[in-house]
Amino acid sequence: MKKIQMVDLKGQYEHIKDRVNASVLDVIESTAFINGPEVHQFQKELEEYLDVKHVIPCANGTDALQIAMMGLGLKPGDEVITADFTFAATVEVIALLGLTPVLVDVDPVTFNIDVEAIRNAITPKTKAIVPVHLFGLAADMDSIMEIATAHDLYVIEDNAQGIGATYTSKAGSKKKVGGIGHVASTSFFPSKNLGCYGDGGAIFTNDDALAHTIRGIVNHGMYIRYHHDVVGVNSRLDSIQATVLRAKLPYLDSYNAARRNTARKYTKAFAGNPRIITPTGFCDAGNSICEVCDCHVFHQYTLRIIDADRDALVQHLNDHDIPCGVYYPIPLHLQKAYADERYNEADFTVTNQLVREVISLPMHTELDDEQIDFITSTVKNFIDQQ
Ligand SMILES: *Cc1c(COP(=O)(O)O)cnc(C)c1O
Repeated sequence: MKKIQMVDLKGQYEHIKDRVNASVLDVIESTAFINGPEVHQFQKELEEYLDVKHVIPCANGTDALQIAMMGLGLKPGDEVITADFTFAATVEVIALLGLTPVLVDVDPVTFNIDVEAIRNAITPKTKAIVPVHLFGLAADMDSIMEIATAHDLYVIEDNAQGIGATYTSKAGSKKKVGGIGHVASTSFFPSKNLGCYGDGGAIFTNDDALAHTIRGIVNHGMYIRYHHDVVGVNSRLDSIQATVLRAKLPYLDSYNAARRNTARKYTKAFAGNPRIITPTGFCDAGNSICEVCDCHVFHQYTLRIIDADRDALVQHLNDHDIPCGVYYPIPLHLQKAYADERYNEADFTVTNQLVREVISLPMHTELDDEQIDFITSTVKNFIDQQ
């Protein structure tokens, strides 16, 4: 059996090696390293793929979130509501800009921001909601957009984990996530579903004026060369990363399909075990994984382990050379940097429980059946012995 990796970038590279190597060499020959034609082409191709009017490439997914918030003109003191159960980048940029992060609990089934908790957290100072499409599953965008409209709030989708996922609204219309809110961010960090070979990110919006503002912000606040109209940043996607992304974008749907296929096999193997709760898709009933649409792109395949020692399971898997991850082990509201006396533990019962129960299994495009069988039987053996 091949050694199991949490993420197998090497195996994926082998399939696209000729194209990637040739295009990277072309960029080097062209010496158009920054803002070259490859960046522009990638931007156009991603706009088409996502069906959004504007993609603005930038240096990474954390910058993308920060720039989106700067573009919306959020000001110190403005409150921004986001999920307690996510990667810290989301809350970090809110705090960095002097905005006030308001962390709220998540839904135990989808792991995504709890819509009731958003409603309860709104104050006259609230200016924006940042839903994260956690682990590749779209947040409840119908309800979030409805709340935003009712209270005149911006919605910034953190789509670092959900690129390529489709959201089906209650009315039945389908949209790629990242094109639903006022603005969205994504990351092309190597292990993301669409990853480059270094750092990269992008901002998406359908709003022409906001796109114009953001294009200046990523480039030192310049709209005309050497005229600095607003305070900006330096955040660029370089041409080598863009050319890698151009080589991979045509495969994104098949990469996501391979992830879903693996997820289906995992879920089938764990079916009927009451102590292993498998992840759910948004549009399906029960715990089966939707066969017809890409509502979940499985950036992570995350189980909840009930009435068993999750940390001992992590150790057991590592002892069998199976990598795994705990995303995330500490709720953001309990992190030193983001603690706030306004928070009340009773408002975070789901996150406080999830951090003890979750475990993410290896998930990438190259897992084979032998590896999947070994992973699932090793998990089940451990649970059966508990
Ligand atoms: C990865 C990630 C980010 C940050 O992206 P970087 O490119 O690493 O800066 C932000 N939010 C979420 C939810 C992420 O998973």
